[in-house]
Amino acid sequence: MWVFLNGRILREDKARISPLDRGFTFADGVYEVIPSYNNKRFLFEEHLTRLKKSLNKLFIPCPQVLDELNSILSELHKKNGFKNQFFYIQITRGVQDIRSHEAESEILPTVFITSQNLDLNPYRNNPDKKGLSVRLEEDIRWARCDIKTTGLTGNILSSHDPSKSKVDEIIFHKNGIINEGSKSNVFILIENSILTPSLDQNILPGITRDFIIEKLRGTDLEVLETEVSLDQFRSAEEIWLTSSTKEIQPVQYLDDFELPRRNSQDYLWLEVLNYFNH
Ligand code: PMP
Repeated sequence: MWVFLNGRILREDKARISPLDRGFTFADGVYEVIPSYNNKRFLFEEHLTRLKKSLNKLFIPCPQVLDELNSILSELHKKNGFKNQFFYIQITRGVQDIRSHEAESEILPTVFITSQNLDLNPYRNNPDKKGLSVRLEEDIRWARCDIKTTGLTGNILSSHDPSKSKVDEIIFHKNGIINEGSKSNVFILIENSILTPSLDQNILPGITRDFIIEKLRGTDLEVLETEVSLDQFRSAEEIWLTSSTKEIQPVQYLDDFELPRRNSQDYLWLEVLNYFNH
């Protein structure tokens, strides 16, 4: 695999990052995930804007190389060869010789980019495919989930707990209110309304979430950014998970309960999937 590290495209096994990088010592960095179809980035400007906001919120200076990000991704896309790919762009505060909470002001951010093969959303070709399984969990993450930091311990912890069953996604809630998935945003369909947790809650402002809301606003369907209670979540007619790599995918199993089944043509999420025309 070809990767980008601090200004150079090189083979993954030639890429070297110091163990004193603050990404390693403090998880002091941010990341972004950008899908690319036929070497065309989907919602590129939106992703770039969120990346810059994440850097800004952590007081990490914005590396100049981001001005050329789209052409770097295009080059990586060609070199890695997969038809569709998704890029991980990781930027840390940089390497610091002496471990200290306070970073020296002159250190330069580390910029590292990889790409992976992106499989098409399986529900595109097979809407009848079994829906995803999810588990509800108390949200124990920190209070700045609006920042896309590489510090994801709170997101990944429970999926490594051997005492818990394996599911496709974990849905976090706090004080009886749904926040988001460990790697996705959530929408529900209930009584002809589409509800999704508001950005005032402690969630990531998902690019896919925004895209769907925008598209729905151009239709006669009502979408509300509002609190979703656990009770509403459990009695939803449809539950959707959204992310840059998933697009939109339906939930079928919630804890041990199966959502009511309908004819696949009747599902609203399938209509929303049509908005993704890349
Ligand atoms: N919430 C969390 C916690 C995530 O990790 C992701 C995936 N990056 C999302 C939501 C969805 O965000 P996006 O649509 O920008 O991929």
